[in-house]
Amino acid sequence: MCLRTKCKLASLCVLVCLLIVTTGTILASGNLGRRLLSNGVAGEDVAQLQKIFLDIGFTVQVDGFFGPQTEAIVRQIQECFGIVVDGIVGSQTLKVINDLKENSSIYIVKPGDNLSIIARNFQTSINAIITLNRLESSIIHSGQPLVIPGRMSSNAVQSVMAQPTSNQRSKIQFRWPVVGRISSPYGWRTHPITKERDFHGGIDIAVPKGTAVRAAASGRVVTAGWMGSYGQGIVIDHGDGYSTWYGHNSRLLVKAEDYVAVGEIIAEVGSTGLATGPHLDFRIKIYGETVNPLDYLQ
Ligand SMILES: [Zn+2]
Repeated sequence: MCLRTKCKLASLCVLVCLLIVTTGTILASGNLGRRLLSNGVAGEDVAQLQKIFLDIGFTVQVDGFFGPQTEAIVRQIQECFGIVVDGIVGSQTLKVINDLKENSSIYIVKPGDNLSIIARNFQTSINAIITLNRLESSIIHSGQPLVIPGRMSSNAVQSVMAQPTSNQRSKIQFRWPVVGRISSPYGWRTHPITKERDFHGGIDIAVPKGTAVRAAASGRVVTAGWMGSYGQGIVIDHGDGYSTWYGHNSRLLVKAEDYVAVGEIIAEVGSTGLATGPHLDFRIKIYGETVNPLDYLQ
């Protein structure tokens, strides 16, 4: 059955001593760092600061006046890097700003963007962006600021986190959530109820009502509840962009935020939502896109 899901808001960036630690480059340029910069201050050093913001990717007028626009950027950066958010540029904030200038940039998400487009454009990996911004999901929003790793810090993140890049990601193996006949395969089909042609994002596995549904891999339950035509549904996040989806259950045995082990019983099969009879609609998504579960099930 098709479904439209609510997206969980991707949390805003917070970071990572990693970036701060990866470089020893501190404020060398000009007068910057000689005094605290805050709202109302003007001068050549403010202009230098604004020029750096411009270089990093912010939209700012380089006028040498520390006004609300400049302060907002300072606060955004402080929030991103997990330091005190006071809108004042002291030595710690300046160190972070200089580090950003050396290694990374801020990118404001545009309508239609997704992580794979951004990663490709900046020649980095989806994982590096997710790690650096501590995103909880791969869903991003127009207007959201993202720290984009530079080559150097991107490599550092990669090696420290030991995460494979998006191109050579290790394929997680999933176990069958129930064992039964596939009554409707993944892909284009004629919908059994609406009789219209639609894309089936999962496989339907026909099994009797009440059959135990097991987690296909270990992970964190992000959704457990009514999901419209998908009925009583469960979504489990497995990290690395992977999630699994279980629809039409008669009973849910886990709740959101629960951690489940592979093989753990999470629900009982049913026919809630838009379903002709008892079956499990099982889906695997990678960064929000469905894939054919049969390519991943052991
Ligand atoms: Zn289905």
